[in-house]
Amino acid sequence: MRFIFKEDTYSKNRGKYSRIIHIYCRKCKSDIGYYQKDGGSKKYMGQLRRLYIDRFTVGVSKNISKGKNLVCSKCKEVLGTRINYSQEDRPAFRLFVGAVKDKIIQVKENK
Ligand SMILES: [Zn+2]
Repeated sequence: MRFIFKEDTYSKNRGKYSRIIHIYCRKCKSDIGYYQKDGGSKKYMGQLRRLYIDRFTVGVSKNISKGKNLVCSKCKEVLGTRINYSQEDRPAFRLFVGAVKDKIIQVKENK
């Protein structure tokens, strides 16, 4: 599967690398979705603390994107809670520590 990277001020502000990562529930291993993580260095992605709603590429249902919490659709574990990242006025989920696992699928070097 190939993904189209979003390029905008958010990705530009975060530097040279963007990654598509596969996010899944740590507890039951169900898919949560594919997500574009902007920033980090070539070798180190940086910790996932927030998932911005606008960075989900596929796999996130409308219910999840509108919900108050990020909930695993299979085991119903609450993975994160909805916030508005005030520095950018940008809706996101703040992840609970250790709630999700992630796997890098694709890396792009930004021009
Ligand atoms: Zn689960």
